[in-house]
Amino acid sequence: MALIVKKFGGSSVGSTDKILAVAKRILSEKQPGDQIVMVVSAMGDTTDDLIALAKKIDKDPYRFQREMDMLLTTGEQVSIALLTMAFETLGQKAVSLTGPLAGMKTNAVHTKGKIVDIQPQRVLDELAKGNIVVVAGFQGADVKGDPVTLGRGGSDTSAVALAGALKADSCEIFTDVDGVYSADPRMVPDARRMKEITYDEMLEMARLGAGVMQPRSVEMGKYFNMPIHVRSTFTTKPGTMIREAYTMEEKDFVIRGVAHDEKVAKIAVLGVPNNPGIAHSIFSALAAANIDVDMIVQSIRNIEKNVTDMVFTLASDDLPQAKPIVDKVANELNAIAVLVEEDVAKVSIVGAGMLGNPGIAARMFGALSKAQINIDVISTSEISISCLIKSADLKKAANAIHEEFFPKK
Ligand code: ADP
Ligand code: ASP
Ligand code: MG
Repeated sequence: MALIVKKFGGSSVGSTDKILAVAKRILSEKQPGDQIVMVVSAMGDTTDDLIALAKKIDKDPYRFQREMDMLLTTGEQVSIALLTMAFETLGQKAVSLTGPLAGMKTNAVHTKGKIVDIQPQRVLDELAKGNIVVVAGFQGADVKGDPVTLGRGGSDTSAVALAGALKADSCEIFTDVDGVYSADPRMVPDARRMKEITYDEMLEMARLGAGVMQPRSVEMGKYFNMPIHVRSTFTTKPGTMIREAYTMEEKDFVIRGVAHDEKVAKIAVLGVPNNPGIAHSIFSALAAANIDVDMIVQSIRNIEKNVTDMVFTLASDDLPQAKPIVDKVANELNAIAVLVEEDVAKVSIVGAGMLGNPGIAARMFGALSKAQINIDVISTSEISISCLIKSADLKKAANAIHEEFFPKK
């Protein structure tokens, strides 16, 4: 007897036929006595469609953050109701629970909420009655009971967090790829599937754009020490295990993968005084609005006049909110101008093996140079190196870097 959490993403439940197929698969694989919790996303592109609807009302609907959450949480509610009906039609007792009913408590940061506590008693009660419990991913409620969503891709986090809180025996993330690859297979056709990857490396891949897992979900896995099995909805092949440490030969890799992020924007604040507190005034204003800043470069514009340029990147989804904030601070600082570039993208390499392995950065830059690709900004962490480039160069860049570290056999 095992308690298993299985998460199915949007493309896995994209139509009623797919929902029925998921229910049939679960029942055919269920062992007697298994307790099953399903976490599901909204059907197909529903979340994008709901955002598009809101944009027809207002061009920046994220100004109405609570209402965006009220809207977006409906997507997952459609899937849980339909999947539960599918189980019942097939003769299996099941019950649907919204995130709040499943005990998902979040902070009050609408559209980017974080889970602060999980009280899954209702889930346990329903399992004890012999139900398959179908939980809406991507959502919880704050102390007031208001709906809060967990950021794009947040159903992954719902699933792993619930698995951890329930002390589940396993947590499986079913998706439209059969595991984690050395690069997004849609961008790099030669990408290879990994049997295993550590939490730390997966977290870095996810933060740098590998959308197969939401970064917070990997943090949850690490926090609860809950291994995560990423696998295909459409085949029964084993996928990729995300866990604390490698168990196999794969630990020999220096570079684990190439990640890319197209949803990046660059802001340059030109000609600000080179005085203490300038960076603080720009970035604290953005932090107060819950906007994450990524790569930051400060460079000297004019030594005599003691002015500097401040360049940074952020998620392009945050740009409409960030731009007026930066404009206001720049104005107060008497900056010369604020420039925005949206046709930029980030390409990164990730691997714990690069620690103490000199020459990795040079190989990455060499691959880009051979492909005639200009690097705009570079940033590094202990286990990654990222380059900001023109969006138009992204596919060529990702493939060139991948070929450098994972040459075709
Ligand atoms: P779901 O709807 O199941 O949550 P997502 O679209 O969020 O699915 O995530 C799966 C997608 O992630 C894949 O189709 C793939 O294009 C993308 N992806 C990005 N990087 C990787 C990677 N390194 N390995 C596998 N898939 C990746
Ligand atoms: N439906 C949400 C999204 O599209 C959550 C998820 O799919 O994980 O971002
Ligand atoms: Mg996803």
